[in-house]
Amino acid sequence: MSEERSLNFIEEIVEEDIRNGKNGGRVHTRFPPEPNGYLHIGHAKSICLNFGLALKYNGKTNLRFDDTNPETEETEYVESIKEDVKWLGFNWDNELYASNYFDQLYEFATNLIKKGLAYVDDSSPDEIAAQKGTPTEPGTPSPYRERSIEENLSLFAEMREGKYPDGAKVLRAKIDLASPNMHMRDPIMYRIRHAKHHRTGNKWCIYPMYDFAHGQSDSIEGITHSICTLEFIPHRALYDWFIDQLEIFPSRQYEFARLNMTYTVMSKRKLLQLVNEGFVTGWDDPRMPTISGLRRRGFTPASIRDFCDRIGVAKRENIIDVSLLEFCVREDLNKTAWRRMAVLDPIKLVITNYEGEGELLHGENNPEVEGGEGSRDIPFSKELWIEREDFMENPPKKFFRLGPGLMVRLKHAYIVKCEDFVKDEQGNIIEVRCTYIPESKSGQDTSGINVKGTIHWVSVPHAATAEVRVYDRLFRSEDPAGEDRDFKELINPESLQIIPKVFMEPDLATAQPGRGYQFIRKGYFTLDKDSTTENLVFNRTVTLKDTWAKEVKKG
Ligand code: ATP
Ligand code: MG
Repeated sequence: MSEERSLNFIEEIVEEDIRNGKNGGRVHTRFPPEPNGYLHIGHAKSICLNFGLALKYNGKTNLRFDDTNPETEETEYVESIKEDVKWLGFNWDNELYASNYFDQLYEFATNLIKKGLAYVDDSSPDEIAAQKGTPTEPGTPSPYRERSIEENLSLFAEMREGKYPDGAKVLRAKIDLASPNMHMRDPIMYRIRHAKHHRTGNKWCIYPMYDFAHGQSDSIEGITHSICTLEFIPHRALYDWFIDQLEIFPSRQYEFARLNMTYTVMSKRKLLQLVNEGFVTGWDDPRMPTISGLRRRGFTPASIRDFCDRIGVAKRENIIDVSLLEFCVREDLNKTAWRRMAVLDPIKLVITNYEGEGELLHGENNPEVEGGEGSRDIPFSKELWIEREDFMENPPKKFFRLGPGLMVRLKHAYIVKCEDFVKDEQGNIIEVRCTYIPESKSGQDTSGINVKGTIHWVSVPHAATAEVRVYDRLFRSEDPAGEDRDFKELINPESLQIIPKVFMEPDLATAQPGRGYQFIRKGYFTLDKDSTTENLVFNRTVTLKDTWAKEVKKG
Protein backbone atom coordinates (compact mmCIF):
# COMPACT_ATOMS: atom_id res chain seq x y z
CA MET A 1 0.00 0.00 0.00
CA SER A 2 1.25 3.43 -0.86
CA GLU A 3 2.05 5.34 2.32
CA GLU A 4 1.14 8.77 0.99
CA ARG A 5 -2.52 8.02 0.34
CA SER A 6 -4.95 9.56 2.79
CA LEU A 7 -6.90 7.44 5.25
CA ASN A 8 -10.07 5.82 4.03
CA PHE A 9 -13.17 6.29 6.16
CA ILE A 10 -12.80 2.91 7.85
CA GLU A 11 -9.19 3.63 8.79
CA GLU A 12 -10.40 6.91 10.26
CA ILE A 13 -12.90 5.03 12.42
CA VAL A 14 -10.25 2.54 13.50
CA GLU A 15 -7.74 5.28 14.38
CA GLU A 16 -10.39 7.13 16.37
CA ASP A 17 -11.22 3.91 18.25
CA ILE A 18 -7.54 3.33 18.99
CA ARG A 19 -7.16 6.91 20.24
CA ASN A 20 -10.12 6.40 22.57
CA GLY A 21 -8.74 3.13 23.86
CA LYS A 22 -11.81 1.28 22.69
CA ASN A 23 -11.43 -2.49 23.15
CA GLY A 24 -8.08 -1.74 24.74
CA GLY A 25 -6.82 -0.48 21.38
CA ARG A 26 -7.30 -3.92 19.89
CA VAL A 27 -8.14 -4.30 16.16
CA HIS A 28 -9.62 -7.62 15.10
CA THR A 29 -11.29 -8.07 11.70
CA ARG A 30 -12.62 -11.08 9.86
CA PHE A 31 -13.21 -12.09 6.27
CA PRO A 32 -16.50 -14.04 6.23
CA PRO A 33 -17.13 -15.84 2.93
CA GLU A 34 -20.01 -18.19 2.48
CA PRO A 35 -18.52 -21.40 0.97
CA ASN A 36 -21.07 -21.53 -1.83
CA GLY A 37 -18.77 -20.57 -4.70
CA TYR A 38 -15.29 -19.41 -5.62
CA LEU A 39 -14.00 -15.99 -4.63
CA HIS A 40 -14.09 -13.18 -7.18
CA ILE A 41 -12.27 -9.87 -7.53
CA GLY A 42 -14.98 -8.21 -5.40
CA HIS A 43 -14.02 -10.49 -2.54
CA ALA A 44 -10.40 -9.45 -3.09
CA LYS A 45 -11.43 -5.91 -2.21
CA SER A 46 -12.91 -7.13 1.07
CA ILE A 47 -9.87 -9.35 1.76
CA CYS A 48 -7.41 -6.51 1.14
CA LEU A 49 -9.46 -4.23 3.37
CA ASN A 50 -9.88 -6.64 6.28
CA PHE A 51 -6.37 -8.08 6.24
CA GLY A 52 -4.92 -4.68 5.37
CA LEU A 53 -6.41 -3.11 8.51
CA ALA A 54 -4.98 -5.81 10.73
CA LEU A 55 -1.54 -5.45 9.14
CA LYS A 56 -1.60 -1.68 9.43
CA TYR A 57 -2.85 -1.54 13.02
CA ASN A 58 -1.06 -4.56 14.41
CA GLY A 59 -4.28 -6.49 14.73
CA LYS A 60 -5.66 -9.87 13.75
CA THR A 61 -7.90 -11.24 11.02
CA ASN A 62 -10.00 -14.37 11.18
CA LEU A 63 -11.02 -16.34 8.15
CA ARG A 64 -14.55 -17.28 9.02
CA PHE A 65 -16.71 -19.45 6.84
CA ASP A 66 -20.29 -18.30 7.08
CA ASP A 67 -21.71 -21.77 6.62
CA THR A 68 -25.32 -21.63 7.70
CA ASN A 69 -26.98 -22.76 4.42
CA PRO A 70 -26.25 -26.49 4.23
CA GLU A 71 -27.78 -27.03 0.77
CA THR A 72 -25.47 -24.71 -1.15
CA GLU A 73 -22.21 -25.11 0.74
CA GLU A 74 -19.39 -27.50 -0.05
CA THR A 75 -15.91 -28.42 1.11
CA GLU A 76 -14.54 -27.83 -2.40
CA TYR A 77 -15.46 -24.16 -1.98
CA VAL A 78 -13.83 -24.00 1.45
CA GLU A 79 -10.57 -25.33 0.01
CA SER A 80 -10.61 -22.96 -2.96
CA ILE A 81 -11.27 -19.96 -0.71
CA LYS A 82 -8.31 -20.84 1.52
CA GLU A 83 -6.06 -21.27 -1.49
CA ASP A 84 -7.14 -17.93 -2.96
CA VAL A 85 -6.67 -15.93 0.25
CA LYS A 86 -3.19 -17.41 0.70
CA TRP A 87 -2.30 -16.76 -2.90
CA LEU A 88 -3.29 -13.13 -2.52
CA GLY A 89 -0.60 -12.98 0.15
CA PHE A 90 -2.58 -12.97 3.39
CA ASN A 91 -2.39 -15.20 6.46
CA TRP A 92 -5.33 -15.51 8.78
CA ASP A 93 -4.94 -15.78 12.53
CA ASN A 94 -7.74 -18.32 12.97
CA GLU A 95 -9.68 -20.52 10.58
CA LEU A 96 -13.22 -20.60 11.92
CA TYR A 97 -16.70 -21.64 10.91
CA ALA A 98 -20.08 -20.26 11.94
CA SER A 99 -21.03 -23.92 12.30
CA ASN A 100 -18.50 -24.18 15.16
CA TYR A 101 -20.97 -22.06 17.11
CA PHE A 102 -24.20 -23.95 16.45
CA ASP A 103 -24.39 -25.14 20.08
CA GLN A 104 -23.61 -21.68 21.39
CA LEU A 105 -26.11 -20.05 19.03
CA TYR A 106 -28.78 -22.49 20.14
CA GLU A 107 -28.10 -21.47 23.71
CA PHE A 108 -28.26 -17.77 22.78
CA ALA A 109 -31.64 -18.39 21.17
CA THR A 110 -32.86 -20.20 24.27
CA ASN A 111 -31.73 -17.23 26.38
CA LEU A 112 -33.81 -14.88 24.26
CA ILE A 113 -36.84 -17.16 24.61
CA LYS A 114 -36.36 -17.11 28.38
CA LYS A 115 -36.29 -13.31 28.30
CA GLY A 116 -39.58 -13.33 26.40
CA LEU A 117 -37.79 -11.99 23.31
CA ALA A 118 -38.30 -14.90 20.88
CA TYR A 119 -41.16 -17.20 19.95
CA VAL A 120 -41.90 -20.23 17.83
CA ASP A 121 -44.21 -19.37 14.96
CA ASP A 122 -46.24 -21.93 12.98
CA SER A 123 -47.24 -19.43 10.31
CA SER A 124 -46.32 -20.23 6.71
CA PRO A 125 -43.72 -18.12 4.87
CA ASP A 126 -46.53 -16.26 3.04
CA GLU A 127 -48.36 -15.56 6.26
CA ILE A 128 -45.18 -14.28 7.86
CA ALA A 129 -44.53 -12.04 4.88
CA ALA A 130 -48.07 -10.66 5.11
CA GLN A 131 -47.72 -10.11 8.86
CA LYS A 132 -44.68 -7.93 8.22
CA GLY A 133 -46.83 -5.16 6.76
CA THR A 134 -45.33 -2.60 4.39
CA PRO A 135 -42.90 0.24 4.92
CA THR A 136 -45.87 2.58 5.40
CA GLU A 137 -48.13 0.22 7.37
CA PRO A 138 -47.18 -1.52 10.60
CA GLY A 139 -47.17 -5.30 10.72
CA THR A 140 -49.75 -7.46 12.48
CA PRO A 141 -48.91 -9.93 15.22
CA SER A 142 -48.78 -13.60 14.43
CA PRO A 143 -51.43 -15.67 16.29
CA TYR A 144 -48.45 -17.47 17.89
CA ARG A 145 -46.73 -14.34 19.15
CA GLU A 146 -47.99 -14.63 22.72
CA ARG A 147 -47.01 -18.22 23.34
CA SER A 148 -45.66 -18.78 26.85
CA ILE A 149 -41.95 -19.04 27.52
CA GLU A 150 -42.37 -22.69 28.55
CA GLU A 151 -44.25 -23.59 25.38
CA ASN A 152 -41.65 -21.80 23.25
CA LEU A 153 -38.80 -23.58 25.00
CA SER A 154 -40.32 -26.99 24.47
CA LEU A 155 -41.34 -26.31 20.86
CA PHE A 156 -37.88 -24.99 20.02
CA ALA A 157 -36.34 -28.10 21.60
CA GLU A 158 -38.67 -30.24 19.49
CA MET A 159 -37.69 -28.35 16.36
CA ARG A 160 -34.10 -29.23 17.11
CA GLU A 161 -34.97 -32.85 17.79
CA GLY A 162 -36.43 -33.17 14.32
CA LYS A 163 -40.07 -33.49 15.25
CA TYR A 164 -41.24 -31.16 12.47
CA PRO A 165 -40.75 -31.06 8.72
CA ASP A 166 -39.02 -28.26 6.83
CA GLY A 167 -41.01 -25.05 6.93
CA ALA A 168 -43.42 -26.17 9.64
CA LYS A 169 -42.14 -23.73 12.23
CA VAL A 170 -39.61 -20.96 12.68
CA LEU A 171 -38.15 -19.15 15.66
CA ARG A 172 -38.73 -15.40 15.49
CA ALA A 173 -37.37 -12.53 17.54
CA LYS A 174 -40.04 -10.49 19.29
CA ILE A 175 -39.07 -6.93 18.58
CA ASP A 176 -41.31 -4.27 17.06
CA LEU A 177 -43.92 -4.85 14.39
CA ALA A 178 -44.27 -1.13 13.84
CA SER A 179 -40.56 -0.43 13.35
CA PRO A 180 -39.79 1.67 10.26
CA ASN A 181 -36.98 -0.83 9.70
CA MET A 182 -38.58 -3.93 8.22
CA HIS A 183 -35.72 -6.08 9.53
CA MET A 184 -36.87 -5.29 13.09
CA ARG A 185 -40.40 -6.60 12.54
CA ASP A 186 -39.99 -9.92 14.31
CA PRO A 187 -37.27 -11.33 12.03
CA ILE A 188 -36.74 -15.07 11.68
CA MET A 189 -33.84 -16.44 13.74
CA TYR A 190 -34.03 -20.17 12.96
CA ARG A 191 -35.61 -22.31 10.29
CA ILE A 192 -35.99 -26.07 9.90
CA ARG A 193 -33.83 -27.71 7.20
CA HIS A 194 -33.42 -31.46 7.18
CA ALA A 195 -30.23 -31.23 5.18
CA LYS A 196 -26.75 -32.60 5.59
CA HIS A 197 -24.20 -29.95 6.44
CA HIS A 198 -20.68 -30.20 5.00
CA ARG A 199 -19.20 -30.05 8.50
CA THR A 200 -21.83 -30.93 11.07
CA GLY A 201 -23.41 -33.68 9.00
CA ASN A 202 -26.87 -34.57 10.26
CA LYS A 203 -26.38 -33.26 13.76
CA TRP A 204 -28.66 -30.32 13.12
CA CYS A 205 -31.96 -29.91 11.36
CA ILE A 206 -32.45 -26.30 12.40
CA TYR A 207 -30.12 -23.62 11.11
CA PRO A 208 -29.70 -19.99 12.19
CA MET A 209 -30.43 -17.20 9.73
CA TYR A 210 -27.63 -14.86 8.62
CA ASP A 211 -28.80 -12.21 11.09
CA PHE A 212 -28.71 -14.62 13.99
CA ALA A 213 -25.33 -16.03 13.10
CA HIS A 214 -23.14 -13.27 11.79
CA GLY A 215 -23.10 -10.76 14.62
CA GLN A 216 -23.04 -13.51 17.22
CA SER A 217 -20.06 -15.14 15.53
CA ASP A 218 -18.33 -11.76 15.43
CA SER A 219 -19.02 -11.31 19.10
CA ILE A 220 -17.83 -14.79 20.11
CA GLU A 221 -14.57 -14.10 18.26
CA GLY A 222 -14.15 -10.64 19.76
CA ILE A 223 -14.24 -8.98 16.35
CA THR A 224 -13.88 -5.22 16.83
CA HIS A 225 -14.68 -4.01 13.31
CA SER A 226 -17.09 -6.13 11.30
CA ILE A 227 -16.91 -4.79 7.77
CA CYS A 228 -19.53 -5.61 5.17
CA THR A 229 -21.06 -4.15 2.05
CA LEU A 230 -23.71 -1.43 1.86
CA GLU A 231 -26.73 -3.69 1.48
CA PHE A 232 -26.30 -4.63 5.13
CA ILE A 233 -26.96 -1.13 6.42
CA PRO A 234 -30.60 -1.96 7.26
CA HIS A 235 -29.42 -5.08 9.11
CA ARG A 236 -27.25 -3.05 11.48
CA ALA A 237 -30.04 -2.22 13.96
CA LEU A 238 -30.79 -5.91 14.29
CA TYR A 239 -27.09 -6.76 14.59
CA ASP A 240 -26.90 -4.36 17.54
CA TRP A 241 -30.22 -5.46 19.06
CA PHE A 242 -29.19 -9.11 19.34
CA ILE A 243 -25.83 -8.17 20.86
CA ASP A 244 -27.50 -5.84 23.37
CA GLN A 245 -30.18 -8.33 24.39
CA LEU A 246 -27.70 -11.18 24.70
CA GLU A 247 -25.30 -8.90 26.59
CA ILE A 248 -22.31 -10.24 24.69
CA PHE A 249 -19.14 -8.59 23.35
CA PRO A 250 -20.17 -5.52 21.35
CA SER A 251 -18.74 -6.06 17.89
CA ARG A 252 -19.65 -3.19 15.54
CA GLN A 253 -20.66 -3.32 11.90
CA TYR A 254 -19.35 -0.87 9.25
CA GLU A 255 -20.42 -0.80 5.62
CA PHE A 256 -18.49 0.07 2.45
CA ALA A 257 -19.36 0.06 -1.25
CA ARG A 258 -18.97 -3.25 -3.03
CA LEU A 259 -16.79 -3.46 -6.12
CA ASN A 260 -18.56 -3.52 -9.47
CA MET A 261 -16.50 -3.84 -12.63
CA THR A 262 -17.29 -3.31 -16.31
CA TYR A 263 -17.80 -6.18 -18.79
CA THR A 264 -18.37 -8.78 -16.12
CA VAL A 265 -20.83 -10.06 -13.56
CA MET A 266 -19.82 -10.34 -9.95
CA SER A 267 -22.24 -12.42 -8.00
CA LYS A 268 -21.49 -16.02 -7.16
CA ARG A 269 -25.02 -16.98 -8.16
CA LYS A 270 -24.47 -15.65 -11.69
CA LEU A 271 -20.95 -17.02 -11.93
CA LEU A 272 -22.31 -20.43 -10.91
CA GLN A 273 -24.77 -20.26 -13.80
CA LEU A 274 -21.94 -19.58 -16.23
CA VAL A 275 -20.14 -22.65 -14.91
CA ASN A 276 -23.15 -24.98 -14.72
CA GLU A 277 -24.54 -24.01 -18.10
CA GLY A 278 -21.20 -24.43 -19.85
CA PHE A 279 -20.58 -20.84 -20.91
CA VAL A 280 -17.12 -21.18 -19.40
CA THR A 281 -14.98 -24.23 -18.66
CA GLY A 282 -15.09 -23.84 -14.87
CA TRP A 283 -14.74 -21.42 -11.99
CA ASP A 284 -11.12 -20.94 -12.99
CA ASP A 285 -11.78 -20.24 -16.66
CA PRO A 286 -9.31 -17.44 -17.47
CA ARG A 287 -12.21 -15.21 -18.58
CA MET A 288 -13.88 -15.38 -15.19
CA PRO A 289 -13.53 -12.53 -12.66
CA THR A 290 -12.73 -15.14 -10.02
CA ILE A 291 -9.41 -15.09 -8.20
CA SER A 292 -8.71 -18.58 -9.56
CA GLY A 293 -9.57 -17.44 -13.10
CA LEU A 294 -7.36 -14.39 -12.84
CA ARG A 295 -4.53 -16.51 -11.42
CA ARG A 296 -4.82 -18.98 -14.28
CA ARG A 297 -4.90 -16.12 -16.74
CA GLY A 298 -1.58 -14.84 -15.36
CA PHE A 299 -2.61 -12.05 -13.02
CA THR A 300 -0.27 -11.66 -10.07
CA PRO A 301 -1.20 -11.22 -6.40
CA ALA A 302 0.67 -7.90 -6.35
CA SER A 303 -1.36 -6.57 -9.28
CA ILE A 304 -4.66 -7.44 -7.60
CA ARG A 305 -3.57 -5.87 -4.31
CA ASP A 306 -2.46 -2.77 -6.19
CA PHE A 307 -5.84 -2.62 -7.94
CA CYS A 308 -7.69 -2.87 -4.62
CA ASP A 309 -5.53 -0.11 -3.22
CA ARG A 310 -6.17 2.17 -6.20
CA ILE A 311 -9.95 1.77 -6.22
CA GLY A 312 -10.06 2.69 -2.55
CA VAL A 313 -12.83 2.25 -0.03
CA ALA A 314 -15.90 4.43 -0.30
CA LYS A 315 -19.47 4.71 0.90
CA ARG A 316 -21.01 5.12 -2.55
CA GLU A 317 -21.29 2.44 -5.18
CA ASN A 318 -19.82 2.90 -8.61
CA ILE A 319 -18.52 0.77 -11.44
CA ILE A 320 -14.79 0.41 -12.00
CA ASP A 321 -13.41 0.12 -15.51
CA VAL A 322 -11.80 -3.30 -16.02
CA SER A 323 -9.02 -1.43 -17.87
CA LEU A 324 -7.75 -0.34 -14.48
CA LEU A 325 -7.24 -3.97 -13.45
CA GLU A 326 -5.46 -4.62 -16.75
CA PHE A 327 -3.33 -1.52 -16.21
CA CYS A 328 -2.28 -2.85 -12.80
CA VAL A 329 -1.21 -6.24 -14.11
CA ARG A 330 0.73 -4.62 -16.96
CA GLU A 331 2.56 -2.42 -14.46
CA ASP A 332 3.52 -5.43 -12.38
CA LEU A 333 4.42 -7.76 -15.24
CA ASN A 334 6.51 -5.09 -16.89
CA LYS A 335 8.71 -5.27 -13.79
CA THR A 336 8.63 -9.02 -13.24
CA ALA A 337 7.93 -10.91 -16.48
CA TRP A 338 10.76 -12.65 -18.29
CA ARG A 339 11.24 -11.60 -21.88
CA ARG A 340 11.00 -14.18 -24.62
CA MET A 341 10.33 -14.23 -28.36
CA ALA A 342 7.35 -16.01 -29.88
CA VAL A 343 5.87 -15.76 -33.36
CA LEU A 344 2.09 -15.98 -33.40
CA ASP A 345 1.42 -15.63 -37.13
CA PRO A 346 4.52 -17.02 -38.83
CA ILE A 347 6.18 -16.49 -42.15
CA LYS A 348 9.63 -17.85 -42.97
CA LEU A 349 12.70 -15.66 -43.32
CA VAL A 350 15.78 -17.17 -44.99
CA ILE A 351 19.20 -15.55 -44.63
CA THR A 352 20.84 -16.41 -47.90
CA ASN A 353 24.40 -15.44 -46.93
CA TYR A 354 24.45 -17.09 -43.49
CA GLU A 355 26.84 -20.03 -43.48
CA GLY A 356 27.16 -22.84 -41.04
CA GLU A 357 25.11 -24.59 -38.36
CA GLY A 358 24.01 -21.53 -36.48
CA GLU A 359 25.01 -20.05 -33.13
CA LEU A 360 23.79 -19.32 -29.64
CA LEU A 361 22.91 -15.72 -28.87
CA HIS A 362 21.96 -14.40 -25.43
CA GLY A 363 19.27 -12.25 -23.90
CA GLU A 364 18.61 -11.12 -20.34
CA ASN A 365 15.55 -12.58 -18.72
CA ASN A 366 14.42 -9.28 -17.30
CA PRO A 367 16.05 -6.05 -18.47
CA GLU A 368 13.97 -4.09 -15.90
CA VAL A 369 16.16 -5.25 -13.03
CA GLU A 370 19.89 -4.99 -12.50
CA GLY A 371 21.63 -8.22 -13.48
CA GLY A 372 18.67 -9.11 -15.68
CA GLU A 373 17.72 -12.08 -13.49
CA GLY A 374 20.12 -14.14 -15.54
CA SER A 375 19.95 -14.75 -19.25
CA ARG A 376 18.98 -17.46 -21.63
CA ASP A 377 20.57 -18.84 -24.79
CA ILE A 378 18.73 -18.05 -28.00
CA PRO A 379 19.59 -20.31 -30.94
CA PHE A 380 20.03 -18.50 -34.21
CA SER A 381 20.22 -20.07 -37.67
CA LYS A 382 19.77 -19.50 -41.37
CA GLU A 383 15.99 -20.00 -41.24
CA LEU A 384 13.81 -17.99 -38.92
CA TRP A 385 10.13 -17.48 -38.23
CA ILE A 386 9.00 -13.86 -38.18
CA GLU A 387 5.53 -12.34 -37.87
CA ARG A 388 3.64 -12.09 -41.13
CA GLU A 389 2.76 -8.47 -40.31
CA ASP A 390 6.45 -7.53 -40.13
CA PHE A 391 6.79 -7.88 -43.90
CA MET A 392 4.99 -5.83 -46.55
CA GLU A 393 5.30 -6.24 -50.26
CA ASN A 394 4.50 -2.58 -50.83
CA PRO A 395 5.31 -0.86 -47.55
CA PRO A 396 4.20 2.72 -46.89
CA LYS A 397 6.84 5.35 -46.23
CA LYS A 398 7.23 5.00 -42.46
CA PHE A 399 7.16 1.23 -42.29
CA PHE A 400 10.36 0.47 -40.35
CA ARG A 401 10.18 -3.26 -40.77
CA LEU A 402 10.73 -5.54 -43.76
CA GLY A 403 9.85 -4.96 -47.39
CA PRO A 404 11.84 -5.15 -50.59
CA GLY A 405 15.17 -3.39 -49.95
CA LEU A 406 14.35 -2.50 -46.31
CA MET A 407 16.60 -3.20 -43.35
CA VAL A 408 15.65 -4.15 -39.81
CA ARG A 409 17.36 -5.42 -36.69
CA LEU A 410 16.55 -8.91 -35.51
CA LYS A 411 16.27 -8.63 -31.71
CA HIS A 412 19.43 -9.86 -29.92
CA ALA A 413 20.92 -10.75 -33.34
CA TYR A 414 21.88 -9.06 -36.58
CA ILE A 415 20.70 -6.45 -39.03
CA VAL A 416 19.15 -8.01 -42.13
CA LYS A 417 18.22 -6.60 -45.49
CA CYS A 418 15.31 -7.90 -47.52
CA GLU A 419 16.46 -8.90 -50.98
CA ASP A 420 13.51 -10.87 -52.31
CA PHE A 421 10.39 -12.81 -51.43
CA VAL A 422 8.58 -15.94 -52.64
CA LYS A 423 4.86 -16.40 -53.29
CA ASP A 424 2.84 -19.58 -53.54
CA GLU A 425 0.41 -20.33 -56.38
CA GLN A 426 -2.40 -18.43 -54.66
CA GLY A 427 -0.19 -15.36 -54.38
CA ASN A 428 0.43 -15.63 -50.63
CA ILE A 429 3.87 -14.66 -49.50
CA ILE A 430 5.54 -17.73 -48.05
CA GLU A 431 9.16 -16.72 -47.70
CA VAL A 432 11.15 -13.57 -47.20
CA ARG A 433 14.74 -13.74 -48.40
CA CYS A 434 17.37 -11.56 -46.74
CA THR A 435 21.09 -11.07 -46.37
CA TYR A 436 22.62 -10.25 -43.01
CA ILE A 437 25.41 -7.94 -41.95
CA PRO A 438 27.95 -10.10 -40.05
CA GLU A 439 29.47 -7.06 -38.24
CA SER A 440 26.09 -5.97 -36.84
CA LYS A 441 25.75 -8.51 -34.05
CA SER A 442 23.90 -7.04 -31.04
CA GLY A 443 26.25 -5.86 -28.32
CA GLN A 444 29.31 -5.85 -30.65
CA ASP A 445 27.98 -3.95 -33.64
CA THR A 446 30.76 -2.36 -35.70
CA SER A 447 28.76 -2.04 -38.89
CA GLY A 448 27.97 1.65 -38.44
CA ILE A 449 24.54 1.00 -39.88
CA ASN A 450 21.53 2.53 -38.14
CA VAL A 451 18.11 0.98 -38.54
CA LYS A 452 14.88 2.23 -37.02
CA GLY A 453 13.02 -1.00 -36.45
CA THR A 454 13.64 -4.15 -34.38
CA ILE A 455 11.58 -7.28 -34.86
CA HIS A 456 11.37 -10.58 -32.98
CA TRP A 457 12.02 -14.00 -34.50
CA VAL A 458 12.47 -17.66 -33.68
CA SER A 459 14.90 -20.10 -35.28
CA VAL A 460 12.99 -22.62 -37.41
CA PRO A 461 14.92 -25.80 -36.53
CA HIS A 462 15.01 -24.95 -32.83
CA ALA A 463 11.52 -23.55 -32.22
CA ALA A 464 9.24 -24.98 -29.57
CA THR A 465 5.57 -24.96 -30.45
CA ALA A 466 2.58 -24.21 -28.27
CA GLU A 467 -1.11 -23.52 -28.35
CA VAL A 468 -1.88 -19.97 -27.35
CA ARG A 469 -5.22 -18.87 -25.95
CA VAL A 470 -6.12 -15.26 -26.44
CA TYR A 471 -8.93 -13.83 -24.33
CA ASP A 472 -11.25 -10.95 -24.77
CA ARG A 473 -13.98 -9.68 -22.48
CA LEU A 474 -16.54 -12.28 -21.52
CA PHE A 475 -19.44 -9.89 -22.11
CA ARG A 476 -20.29 -7.45 -24.85
CA SER A 477 -22.06 -5.12 -22.44
CA GLU A 478 -20.37 -2.82 -19.93
CA ASP A 479 -22.93 -3.77 -17.31
CA PRO A 480 -24.39 -7.14 -18.28
CA ALA A 481 -26.24 -7.57 -14.99
CA GLY A 482 -27.79 -4.13 -15.27
CA GLU A 483 -29.54 -4.58 -18.61
CA ASP A 484 -33.12 -5.72 -18.96
CA ARG A 485 -32.14 -8.95 -20.68
CA ASP A 486 -30.75 -12.19 -19.36
CA PHE A 487 -27.06 -11.47 -18.81
CA LYS A 488 -26.15 -14.69 -20.60
CA GLU A 489 -27.48 -13.30 -23.87
CA LEU A 490 -24.77 -10.66 -23.65
CA ILE A 491 -21.84 -13.05 -23.70
CA ASN A 492 -19.14 -12.13 -26.20
CA PRO A 493 -18.98 -15.02 -28.72
CA GLU A 494 -15.37 -14.10 -29.45
CA SER A 495 -14.07 -14.08 -25.91
CA LEU A 496 -11.68 -16.97 -26.63
CA GLN A 497 -9.47 -17.28 -29.67
CA ILE A 498 -7.19 -20.29 -29.95
CA ILE A 499 -3.98 -20.10 -31.96
CA PRO A 500 -3.09 -23.77 -32.38
CA LYS A 501 0.56 -23.47 -33.31
CA VAL A 502 2.79 -20.68 -32.15
CA PHE A 503 6.58 -20.87 -32.59
CA MET A 504 8.63 -19.88 -29.61
CA GLU A 505 12.11 -19.87 -28.15
CA PRO A 506 12.96 -23.46 -27.22
CA ASP A 507 13.62 -22.48 -23.63
CA LEU A 508 9.86 -21.93 -23.17
CA ALA A 509 9.37 -25.69 -23.32
CA THR A 510 10.44 -25.58 -19.67
CA ALA A 511 8.46 -22.48 -18.75
CA GLN A 512 7.63 -22.30 -15.06
CA PRO A 513 3.98 -22.40 -14.03
CA GLY A 514 2.97 -19.17 -12.34
CA ARG A 515 5.67 -17.09 -14.03
CA GLY A 516 4.78 -14.21 -16.29
CA TYR A 517 6.45 -14.01 -19.71
CA GLN A 518 6.48 -11.05 -21.99
CA PHE A 519 6.41 -12.26 -25.55
CA ILE A 520 8.26 -9.30 -26.98
CA ARG A 521 5.92 -6.93 -28.86
CA LYS A 522 3.01 -9.35 -28.32
CA GLY A 523 1.86 -9.11 -24.73
CA TYR A 524 2.11 -10.95 -21.44
CA PHE A 525 1.58 -14.69 -21.29
CA THR A 526 1.69 -17.51 -18.81
CA LEU A 527 1.59 -21.28 -18.90
CA ASP A 528 -1.91 -22.73 -18.60
CA LYS A 529 -2.71 -25.64 -16.32
CA ASP A 530 -3.77 -27.67 -19.39
CA SER A 531 -0.16 -27.57 -20.58
CA THR A 532 1.82 -30.82 -20.86
CA THR A 533 5.38 -31.54 -21.99
CA GLU A 534 4.03 -32.69 -25.36
CA ASN A 535 1.41 -29.97 -25.76
CA LEU A 536 2.39 -26.63 -24.34
CA VAL A 537 -0.46 -24.21 -23.72
CA PHE A 538 -0.07 -20.52 -22.92
CA ASN A 539 -2.69 -17.96 -21.93
CA ARG A 540 -2.44 -14.37 -22.92
CA THR A 541 -2.80 -12.44 -19.68
CA VAL A 542 -3.04 -9.00 -21.23
CA THR A 543 -1.84 -7.04 -24.23
CA LEU A 544 1.16 -4.72 -23.93
CA LYS A 545 -1.01 -1.65 -24.35
CA ASP A 546 -4.62 -0.89 -23.65
CA THR A 547 -6.09 -1.90 -26.98
CA TRP A 548 -9.49 -0.70 -25.84
CA ALA A 549 -7.90 2.74 -25.87
CA LYS A 550 -9.69 4.07 -22.85
CA GLU A 551 -8.24 6.61 -20.52
CA VAL A 552 -6.70 4.84 -17.59
CA LYS A 553 -7.88 6.37 -14.37
CA LYS A 554 -5.06 6.45 -11.91
CA GLY A 555 -5.86 6.43 -8.23
P1 ATP B 1 -21.98 -12.71 -3.91
O1 ATP B 1 -23.14 -11.79 -4.02
O2 ATP B 1 -20.99 -12.59 -4.99
O3 ATP B 1 -22.36 -14.13 -3.63
P2 ATP B 1 -21.64 -12.41 -1.16
O4 ATP B 1 -21.61 -11.09 -0.50
O5 ATP B 1 -22.86 -13.22 -1.01
O6 ATP B 1 -21.22 -12.19 -2.64
P3 ATP B 1 -19.95 -13.67 0.69
O7 ATP B 1 -19.23 -14.95 0.57
O8 ATP B 1 -21.08 -13.60 1.63
O9 ATP B 1 -20.43 -13.29 -0.74
O10 ATP B 1 -18.94 -12.48 0.94
C1 ATP B 1 -17.83 -12.50 1.81
C2 ATP B 1 -17.40 -11.09 2.04
O11 ATP B 1 -17.01 -10.47 0.83
C3 ATP B 1 -18.54 -10.27 2.60
O12 ATP B 1 -18.06 -9.48 3.67
C4 ATP B 1 -18.98 -9.43 1.44
O13 ATP B 1 -19.51 -8.21 1.88
C5 ATP B 1 -17.69 -9.26 0.65
N1 ATP B 1 -17.99 -9.04 -0.78
C6 ATP B 1 -18.72 -9.81 -1.59
N2 ATP B 1 -18.81 -9.27 -2.82
C7 ATP B 1 -18.12 -8.11 -2.78
C8 ATP B 1 -17.84 -7.08 -3.74
N3 ATP B 1 -18.30 -7.13 -4.99
N4 ATP B 1 -17.08 -6.04 -3.35
C9 ATP B 1 -16.62 -5.97 -2.09
N5 ATP B 1 -16.83 -6.89 -1.15
C10 ATP B 1 -17.58 -7.96 -1.48
MG1 MG C 1 -23.71 -14.02 0.66
